[in-house]
Order: sequence, then C-alpha cells, then structure tokens
Amino acid sequence: MKRVAVLGATGSIGSSTLDVIARHPDQFCATVLTANHRVEALVALCVTHRPQLAIIADPALEPELARRLAAAGVHCDIASGHAAIATAAAGALCDVVVAAIVGAAGLDSTLAAARAGKRLLLANKEAIVMAGPLLLKAVRIGGGALLPVDSEHNAIFQCLPPGQTALGRPQASPAQAGVRRLILTASGGPFRGWTREQLATVTPDQACKHPNWVMGRKISVDSATLMNKGLEVIEAHHLFAMPIDAIDVVVHPQSLVHSFVEYIDGSVLAQLGHPDMRTAIACALAWPQRVESGVASLDLATCAPLAFEAPDRATFRCLDLAAAALRAGGDSPAILNAANEIAVAAFLAGALPFLAIADVVESVLAELPGQVVVDVPTLCERDATAREVARRILRHAC
Ligand code: NDP
Repeated sequence: MKRVAVLGATGSIGSSTLDVIARHPDQFCATVLTANHRVEALVALCVTHRPQLAIIADPALEPELARRLAAAGVHCDIASGHAAIATAAAGALCDVVVAAIVGAAGLDSTLAAARAGKRLLLANKEAIVMAGPLLLKAVRIGGGALLPVDSEHNAIFQCLPPGQTALGRPQASPAQAGVRRLILTASGGPFRGWTREQLATVTPDQACKHPNWVMGRKISVDSATLMNKGLEVIEAHHLFAMPIDAIDVVVHPQSLVHSFVEYIDGSVLAQLGHPDMRTAIACALAWPQRVESGVASLDLATCAPLAFEAPDRATFRCLDLAAAALRAGGDSPAILNAANEIAVAAFLAGALPFLAIADVVESVLAELPGQVVVDVPTLCERDATAREVARRILRHAC
C-alpha cells in the first residue's frame, strides 16, 4: 500500500490524482491532502478520501477547516501554513508526494519531499524551472525518485530507455543513450493561428478555454501564451540532461501525441493517448508497474487526423523568452517564472492585456540579469525581487 500526500489536492491535477487513487484502494491511499484557501473543496475531499492529515495553506482558515470537518464527521489531524505542508511532504505519513501546488508556492514542499527521499510525482513545473539543479541534487541526496507528471515529460520518460531518466540516480549522458533530440508537442492553446491584432483584446475567460485540456487558470493562460511550453523546455533540459539545442517544440493541435524522442538511428518514439492527465499520473504512481487509470482506449481509426506545425514564435513571444532565460543561465529561469506569475495574475484580474504578459516578462529579465544560483534562500530572495520589479512595471503600465 503506497501512502500518498496530494499537495494541491483541490486543483485539477489533485482531483485527477485522487480519481486514480480511488480506483485502486488496495494499492494506494491518500493520507495527506492540502489546499490553499478553498476550505469547502478540501472538506469534500476529506469526506470522500478520509486522509490522516488535512492542511490549509492560509492559517486564518484553520478554525473554519476544523469546524467544517467536525460537522462532516471527519476526524483527521489538521494543520495550516506553508511550513506545515513542507513538513508533511517530508513526514512519516507518506511514501509518495504529488507536487501539484501551482507556482513558486510549491517549491518548499517539493524540495522537502525530494530531500526526504520520497517518490516525488512532479506536476509543479515552476519548482523545477526555478530550482532545477537544486531540486535534482535534493532528489539524489534524498535517495528517492522523481517521476514527471507533466504529460510531455511523462511521455518522454516512457520513450527513453529505462535508466536514462531523471529518477535522481546517476544517468548516462543522452548521447550515450543514443538520443538525438526531444520534441515536445504543444496544442497551440486556444489562440493558435490568431494574429496580434486579434489577441489585443482577448479576455481571461477566452484564454482559459483550452481546446483539449481541463486545467487550472494559471497553466491555461501559460498554455495560451506558449509560456507553458517555454517552461516545459526548461523542465525537459533539467529532467533529461539535454542541451537546449536538442529540445524542439512542435504544435500538434489534437493533443494525442504527448511528445517524441528521436534517436541517432532516425527512430522517433512517441507516446500517445487521450488528453487526460490521469494517464501520466497513473504511470507515475504505479511505476514500474501499470494500473488502470479510467482513461478510455484511443481509437486511432476514428480520432482526428494528427497534424503538426511549427509554433508561431513571433506572435507568442513567451516561448523564446523562456529559451533565452535558459540560455542566459544562473537564476534567469527563476526570474522569468516570477515575472510570469505576476503578469499572469494581473491578466487574470483584468489589469493587463494578454500581449503585455510577454512585455512584462521581457522587461523584468532585462532589469535583472541572471546570477549564479547559490542556495534556496538566495533564490527565494531573487524571486521576491523579480516579483517586486514586475509589480513596479505593472503600476507604470496601467
Ligand atoms: P489548479 O489551479 O487547478 O490547482 C492548484 C492547487 O494548488 C489547488 O489545490 C490550490 O488550492 C493550491 N494552491 C494554489 N496556490 C497555493 C499556495 N499559494 N499555497 C498552497 N497551495 C496553493 O492548478 P493545476 O492543478 O492545473 O496545476 C497544478 C500544477 O501542475 C501547476 O504547476 C501546473 O503547471 C502543473 N500542471 C498542470 C496540468 C494540468 O493539466 N492541470 C498539466 C501539467 C502540469 P485552492 O484550491 O485552495 O486554491
């Protein structure tokens, strides 16, 4: 029986994870559930999944969580605050940690799980974008394993030879494994094919209406700007130790091919499936075994024809901004991520036009050249500085 801590349980990845867990009560149980501020949603999950510990990130909401759980007849332990989430991620109640908090807020708990040697199922891509080498070092020292949940990285993980993946163990170089290139697929988001003129007035609701995936609002906007793909290029670079020039992006509007690995003999391996995160989650939860995930069979004879095209990098500038931050090195990816989180929040609040997200990110990167990453506290200070610069730019822009 694997005991699973689901960090960000009330989110899209959290609920897909709990769906898979509930299908296999003989193999998995959810022992820790966390949320940010949606107490009611957390209580509903506790009623269904009966964890040993429920944590709400906002300490002011702990009394309400306690009251509602008691009213619902759930008698689990209760805690609050980010430190409590990190402590639980490293604690004795779980063997597996699903890192599904959105944004830099998930960094502490992701690192804590890695240091404690847990099996870390990584959805929280912002954590590895910010702190890639530190996180992988923590996995190595902790002696656990990192399994990618992001569908593209999970696809690559499945297409690489066993032992070549970022499981926190010594790896052969990609060249030794005969890998020439990783090719990440991108749906293109809701605005694929749109011009800058059309994009000038798009609303948050339009941006969050993804054609294929049902996701949280922040990643939906990232998907619409192609920043999501940029973050994923950085994630792939760290996870699979591939140079950026060996990581390509191709737009695939049907979202059925989740990524490719090209080998030096010309073989190109792909992983296919419906756009449903339960496949990647089930793969990572059960690895190296397989379990049923609830995802339907893919009927290749009736599914939409598979199309591929180059991304429109001129219109969707965030993809190249992310690549430039990775090339710049040091903490530039963390600066990019922080600026993007602030800009996306402003766009979602109706305070920033869609196209200006890239402008804000570019300005913050220009103002804060990358510095060598020393340790986590310094990285967090730089993250805070980048957020402050982004907010100042926003104040002047609005
Ligand atoms: P959601 O917005 O749906 O859920 C986010 C979860 O994190 C919620 O449980 C939320 O709690 C919690 N949370 C938000 N802010 C904080 C905070 N400051 N402190 C503690 N908890 C917090 O996001 P998704 O599930 O879509 O995405 C989660 C992560 O997975 C992201 O990093 C995303 O990039 C990645 N990912 C998502 C995919 C998807 O299909 N959704 C695919 C691949 C990767 P509350 O409900 O209380 O707000």
